[in-house]
Amino acid sequence: MEYLPNIIFAILLIAGIGYFSSNVKKLIRNIKLGHKVDASDHKSERWKNVVNIALGQSKLVKRPVSGFLHAIVYVGFIIINIEVLEIIIDGLFGTHRIGQQVLPTSLYGFLIGSFEILAVLVLVSVTVFWIRRNVIKIKRFLSPEMKGWPKSDGNIILYFEVVLMCLFLVMNATDTIFQTAGSGNVISQFIAPWFEGFSEGTLHLIEKAAWWIHFVGILIFLNYLYFSKHLHILLAFPNVYYGKVEPKGKFNNLEAVTAEVKLMMDPDADPYAAPAETAEDEVPAKFGASDVMDLSQVQLLNAYTCTECGRCTSECPANLTGKKLSPRKIMMDTRDRLEEVGKNIDANNGEFKDDGKQLLGDYITNEELWACTTCNACVEACPVSIDPLSIIIEMRRYLVMEQSAAPMELNNMMTNIENNGAPWPYNQMDRLNWKDEK
Ligand code: SF4
Ligand code: SF4
Repeated sequence: MEYLPNIIFAILLIAGIGYFSSNVKKLIRNIKLGHKVDASDHKSERWKNVVNIALGQSKLVKRPVSGFLHAIVYVGFIIINIEVLEIIIDGLFGTHRIGQQVLPTSLYGFLIGSFEILAVLVLVSVTVFWIRRNVIKIKRFLSPEMKGWPKSDGNIILYFEVVLMCLFLVMNATDTIFQTAGSGNVISQFIAPWFEGFSEGTLHLIEKAAWWIHFVGILIFLNYLYFSKHLHILLAFPNVYYGKVEPKGKFNNLEAVTAEVKLMMDPDADPYAAPAETAEDEVPAKFGASDVMDLSQVQLLNAYTCTECGRCTSECPANLTGKKLSPRKIMMDTRDRLEEVGKNIDANNGEFKDDGKQLLGDYITNEELWACTTCNACVEACPVSIDPLSIIIEMRRYLVMEQSAAPMELNNMMTNIENNGAPWPYNQMDRLNWKDEK
């Protein structure tokens, strides 16, 4: 019986981490449904991006208010979780505040004192976030794609943060040993008087309850991540690493098509030699993407990393001029379809069974795809290096090359390029007629 709490603690810890690990495995399997991307280039630049963009949040602070508040929550989240280490050791070995016993008093006091200050700053930031979402109702949180679960998800995580921070402060305030030591209780010393008049036993009970709920809350939080946009807490780092390092306007041309175009443009080219030289296996089985399996692993990682912040959509000229396109929705749709495919695989013993659905049409419409101006504003605005445009381009590529389903204006232009070598409906021989015009 003496070890019962430790045993319960260990079981909860193993169950929590076990369930989280099984979801991480699913996540990796789903991402691997995409085709591989070679990211062995620009290593130093990639690491620099991780430090600046993911760790330093350099793009996030371009909007100072939300950037600053987010930075507090982020630092608070990371640092306060160091506290979890102490909780785990105490829980497993039955110690009480192991840090207080093994660290110098001043260092332990400094650490816990910093955590307490951060906890308050997090509470303030989270409250402002909640007000921005629910009272001020900032436009980018109100788009059609933000109804239902995405809206609730945004709020649930704020409530989570509030509960965890409050439990941490109450735990400290009701810990008589910690309060008597008087080091590090910079905030909790002002909460402790709320519990004046409580017996020693009641205080101990409240402290233990806060400790246990705090611990279980952390495990729930950990497992909640998989079902939430807050996966970005973990995925932002690999996502930024694998993000685009080439100039934003540079698209990945299809080798087979490029060879065809070069052949067409080169008057000296041997029309019979070139196709034979380009190996048959260079021609992809399918041009572009109509479903998530046609996308790259980086694009699928992008979809899971999206924070649903809407910065991309708020900068998108198509969206701003009332078109149906929202780059955030492109990412959310891709993730939702990928999850659907993942569940399909789970239900069919590891094999995907055709469900008659696909990303194109069932989630993303042609109208959305053709509304894009390919300006790259969404890519520039994204704080975690997501590239919604690359998905749009792949899906357009499918529409054009597999379905000939481009808008009429584009089809006319492409026919002209094919026939006349220029987008205009004039014969090549007539190109210089303008110079004879009077
Ligand atoms: S590239 Fe397309 S989706 Fe992105 S901001 Fe420009 S128009 Fe919008
Ligand atoms: S793609 Fe980037 S900018 Fe757009 S909602 Fe997702 S995280 Fe925010």
